Amino acid sequence: MSDASDFVSDALRAHIALQARYRCGYCLRSQELLGMPLTIDHIIPQAAGGKTVEENLWLACHRCNGFKGTQTHAADLATGTRIGLFNPRRQNWNEHFEWNQTGTEILGKTACGRATVIALKLNNPEIVVARRLWVAAGWWPPQD
Ligand SMILES: [Zn+2]
Repeated sequence: MSDASDFVSDALRAHIALQARYRCGYCLRSQELLGMPLTIDHIIPQAAGGKTVEENLWLACHRCNGFKGTQTHAADLATGTRIGLFNPRRQNWNEHFEWNQTGTEILGKTACGRATVIALKLNNPEIVVARRLWVAAGWWPPQD
């Protein structure tokens, strides 16, 4: 399934990592907390025709990337609409999401945010447990 057009050069990967500030565009987990390199996310998945070009690439953690899969849209239960998933390159995280009071769960503030929280399982049980530890250590939630 891969050919030359799928290739992400080391230079492009480094450029995108800098733009994304070495953190997942969806759950904001940093490479430091993850302890391994983040993956390159095709914002519009290749299966949906997304190209391997800078404007379609961002960083994502393995979990968010895996849960996202080939999805481009998801349902917002509050409004019953299907809406495009959050685009970490074009959209501002803080406009669409916020942390709950304990800093362990991501809440959607908009239809796009709510749909993305569910589609990417941004509050899966394992990550909520990890966030609890990070909060206790004073490492979480991110302040920007
Ligand atoms: Zn993530």
